[in-house]
Amino acid sequence: MSQVLIKNGKVIVGLNAQVESVDLLVKDKIIVEIRPNIDATSLKKQDKNLTIIDASDKLVSPGFIQTHLHLCQTLFRGSADDLELLDWLRLRVWPMEAAHNPASLAASAQLSVAELIKSGTTSALTMETVHHTETVLETVERTGFRATIGKCMMDKGHGVPARLSENTTDSLNASLDLLKSWHSNSGRVRCCFAPRFAISCTQGLLETISKIAQENNILIHTHASENRREIEVVESETGLRNVEYLQKVGLAGKNIALAHCVHVNEREQQILAETGTHVLHCPSSNLKLGSGIAPITEMLERGVSVSIGADGAPCNNNLDIFKEMRLSALLQKMRYGSTALPAKKAFYLATLAGAKALGLEKEIGSIEVGKHADIIIVNLNNLHCTPTPDLLSTLVYSANASDVETVIIDGQVVMHNRELKTMDEKEIIATARKEYYQLVSRAGI
Ligand SMILES: [Zn+2]
Repeated sequence: MSQVLIKNGKVIVGLNAQVESVDLLVKDKIIVEIRPNIDATSLKKQDKNLTIIDASDKLVSPGFIQTHLHLCQTLFRGSADDLELLDWLRLRVWPMEAAHNPASLAASAQLSVAELIKSGTTSALTMETVHHTETVLETVERTGFRATIGKCMMDKGHGVPARLSENTTDSLNASLDLLKSWHSNSGRVRCCFAPRFAISCTQGLLETISKIAQENNILIHTHASENRREIEVVESETGLRNVEYLQKVGLAGKNIALAHCVHVNEREQQILAETGTHVLHCPSSNLKLGSGIAPITEMLERGVSVSIGADGAPCNNNLDIFKEMRLSALLQKMRYGSTALPAKKAFYLATLAGAKALGLEKEIGSIEVGKHADIIIVNLNNLHCTPTPDLLSTLVYSANASDVETVIIDGQVVMHNRELKTMDEKEIIATARKEYYQLVSRAGI
């Protein structure tokens, strides 16, 4: 049995994110007590291995959850700047994904997980590349991170490198093999289906995975309506708006997660709301690729489930939830005035809303007795966070990734006092640099 006691913090507690001065006790992955003055001395007598963390004058928050990431792309950071989406894919990202081998993919995944943990993200929904996804799963398993991971599926499309082009049966079987080997509905590491987007998948593939996913309670994670050229291709091929087409082939519902939804009309927003389909908002990526600003205010008003992700390092170029959370709020204020998307709502999108998209709202996303201990401790005792009349506002608008001091995932301390406990930061940087040069050489870009 492992126990962690967090003493004297200001803790963001419960579904309503109330800040309270309480202690937290974690036993075997689960939060078992939240109350003032938990007696450390008597607990230490019973359990010599008890870990005690002093959080005096610090903020204790649920770990952040990012619902759209590509760990395989972190090694491409800075290699695909200043391009529009379809050129970005065809000229840079696809050739680099095609050049991945298990060593470069492992380097990319561990670089990603280290950056995510150091900036307070404890869970993610990710889409990887077509091959070697087991390497990403192994890295996440080893590092203590929590993620639902999908192998990218691509059985159609122009300009796709031969190595990324699959036939329908092979694509399906490779995903099913990963699900069989890795997926568990109670595990920290899970699998999902990850068809890239409508224009790189056949209708038959989408219909088949929709049926299997519904029967087996599997998540489907894809991109939708990010870019005008993308939706024009879908309309010319199917005669339908993208979200209408996805609904037709079975990709609308509570187990469907659509990244972006920048260009969705009122009818499409209604479909997303009525079916409980999750929208994964990626504000930095949408701005940097010039895709547009997603109608988040309108979708939230209709009751659409919206959460946040950084997308990929080549279109962001960070995986920092603090930047995404703040930008999510600011962009809607630009559209609808300063009262749009307040700090507490932005915090919700980056925590509990993400848990809902993952189907894990009973397990993670808030600090409550009985939930898994995915917790971060943030030190706000610095110039840029002083003073702190409202701690949630400070966290959303003022705090930086580097203010995250300690990270606990599933009861395991994976970072303490900014030192990673399951990974060697220097070695990760050195390996990433070495693998990057070799990958670029293989990609020939
Ligand atoms: Zn993406």
